[in-house]
Formats: sequence, structure tokens, C-alpha cells
Amino acid sequence: MDDTAGLDVPPRLLMGPGPITVDPRVLRAMSAQLVGQFDPFMTEAMTGTMALYREVFRTANEQTFLVDGTSRAGIEAALVSLLEPGDRVLVPVFGRFGALLREIAERCGAEVHTVEVPWGQVVPPEVVEEAVLRVRPKLLAVVQGDTSTTMCQPLADLGEICRRHGVLLYCDATASLGGNPFEADAWGIDVATAGLQKCLGGPPGSAPITLSPRAVELIEARTHVEAGIRDDGDTDRGTRIASNYLDLAQVMAYWGPRRLNHHTEASSMLYAARECARLLVEEGLDAAIARHELHGRAMVAGVRGLGLEVFGDPAHRMSNVVAVHVPDGVVADTVRAALLDDFGIEIGTSFGPLHGRVWRIGTMGYNARRDAVLTTLAALEQVLRGCGAAVPAGGGVGAAREVYAA
Ligand SMILES: *Cc1c(COP(=O)(O)O)cnc(C)c1O
Repeated sequence: MDDTAGLDVPPRLLMGPGPITVDPRVLRAMSAQLVGQFDPFMTEAMTGTMALYREVFRTANEQTFLVDGTSRAGIEAALVSLLEPGDRVLVPVFGRFGALLREIAERCGAEVHTVEVPWGQVVPPEVVEEAVLRVRPKLLAVVQGDTSTTMCQPLADLGEICRRHGVLLYCDATASLGGNPFEADAWGIDVATAGLQKCLGGPPGSAPITLSPRAVELIEARTHVEAGIRDDGDTDRGTRIASNYLDLAQVMAYWGPRRLNHHTEASSMLYAARECARLLVEEGLDAAIARHELHGRAMVAGVRGLGLEVFGDPAHRMSNVVAVHVPDGVVADTVRAALLDDFGIEIGTSFGPLHGRVWRIGTMGYNARRDAVLTTLAALEQVLRGCGAAVPAGGGVGAAREVYAA
């Protein structure tokens, strides 16, 4: 690649666990010109984006806004703002992102306890409740859809358990929001964070977040934001939030009516996040979830039609990504390379105990589409045959088309 030449991005169909091909409407929104940070147009766009994300998270939480950064920035902002050194946290771990929650909570100085299940399962609510009674945590931190295993943790029961025992509930809904049911208020979730590059159809770089009034109260009690730049280190009680950039008390004061100066809002990412939410709200959240369910089901039927097996508890699979066992005698990365080189299609590799054993194929956001599903299955069939696997001719596309015809 000539470093001084303009970027000539190859056409790709991103069918992995994220990022996915960005919706062209979002790309157009991102190319709009900037206005000043406190221009009335900008502050109105920020306020409107808050309202749109209340719909996406299904919440009445006033404090619903964007953290600038990828999904991980949202996770870290939530945990560093909620947790003080010595606080007890319980993390149900059923994949790689549960382990990430544990790690971030540890870095906040919290005393972290986990309940773990083998990859491919979710954590039963009675196991969580038993641990809550034993650990008496301040916070339960859990992932909804863990793309490393494709499992979707049921949350309604966990919300009830947390209410019953006075525990705060944080959820990383990055991979699942917009493609699987998510109900912040009805399920009693205090804080949820997400990202754009999964079912929301945008690029990575903005982390929508919502906080319940009791979470806001807890965070604000840790700090007093009296000026745009707080430099005195003075706190009335508890310890100061260890990050400036991710101090949600300051970020809330910036998004709130006082507009206290903090960071410069990442305007182009705001435009992107706003368009992602607009796409979802226009389509209707239920319709978007149903679309992910349909195309996810067609993909599963297709890979089974090719004689491949699907990984994980079928009762708890996310609708927008499927883990597919690599057949004997086939090298996982050879197939991925051939899909990319010959067809311009990307599917996902896997981590940890699943490395080399499964591919992860996503049908999410802009790519939760019939043509994307059928093209991927047709290409996969050819590549598998090229690797010497015995695959039924047309078995994948045929099975998926039957799902669409039903
Ligand atoms: C993909 C994913 C993320 C991504 O985090 P980034 O910082 O945007 O890379 C976070 N959490 C979960 C559960 C995910 O699946």
C-alpha cells in the first residue's frame, strides 16, 4: 500500500461478530460538517440523541447519553464511576467479556467475586441468587450477549434478584442491543452500555449509556461538579472517581442543561450514533429484533444444511451471531482466508477454549439481510468443498431459502 495514496478500501461483506458493514445512511451522517461545541444546533442534536437512545434502551432514564470511545469506554466509565476501592462486585462469567468485566472491576480496586459456567451455557438465576446472598455485593455486573460464546444471558430474573437484595445491576449490552429484546426499565437494569458496531449498524467509537436515578445519585454523591474543570480533588464522602475522561458525574454535567465543559463531544460520532438510533426507531425496535431473529434463523438453517453443527445451548443463543463447529480435517483459518480472498467475505475466528474449533458468523445491523445471508452460505459451501469437506450441493442456500419461504 502506498502510504501517500488515498485509501482505496476493498469492498467487504463483514459477516463476523462485529464490526459489521456500516449502514450507508450512517456513513453519510458522519460526513456532515461540524458546528461549535456549544452551538445551539449541537446542543439540540445532543438532547435529541438522548431521547432517541431512551427508546433504544427502553427506558425513561433522564441520564441516557454517549460516552466517547468504543464500547469498552462505556464499560469502564460505568464501573470506574460506580465502584470504589473495596466494594464487593459479583460477575457471572460465561465468556470472554464476562472476564473483561472482572478485570475492569479489579482495576477499580473492587473485591470481585465470580460465578462461572462452561462456555456455551448461561448462568442459571438460582446460582446468581445463591452467590448474591453469599457475597452481598454492591453491584452485579453482567454481559447480555457474549459474542465469544454467542450465548445470551436472560436478565429479567437477575433484575428481580438485584431488587430483592438491594444490589445495583450493570449490563454490557454491546453485542445484543437492537437485535435481541432488551428492557432497561422493565428488567430493573440500573446501568447499561453498548456500542454501535454490532446490531446498531454503525462504526466503533461511541458508547451509548443509560443510568437509573439511583445509579446517578450514587455517582453524584462521590463528587461535586461545581465548575467545568474540577481541580481541587475535594470530595464530601467516599473516594474520588479515578478517571477524569470517564468520570460520569462530569460527563453527565456536560450533557445536562448546565452544559459544563468537559471533553469536546466527538461530533462526527454523535452524528453516527444519532443516525443508528434513528434507523432503529424508524424501523421499530420490535421489527428490528424480529429481523435479526429471522436472518439469524436462516443462517443457522443454512449452516446446518451444509452439514455443520452449531455450538452452544440452543435455548440461549443470541439471534445475531452463530458459532459453527469447524468440521474434522478442515483448518479454520484456511476457510476464513479463502472467504476473504475469493469472495470479500469476513467471518469471525474464536478465542480461548473455542480457538480453531468454531467460526463465528454474524447477521447483524445492516447485514441482517437476506442477500448477505445467502451470499455467505453460497461462498462457504464452495470454500468448504475446496478444502475437501463433503458438503451437500446447494444445501446451505436451499435451507435458508426455505426459512424465508415459510
Ligand atoms: C464486541 C463487544 C464489545 C466491544 O468492545 P469495543 O471496545 O467496542 O471493542 C464489548 N462487549 C461485548 C459483549 C462485545 O460483544
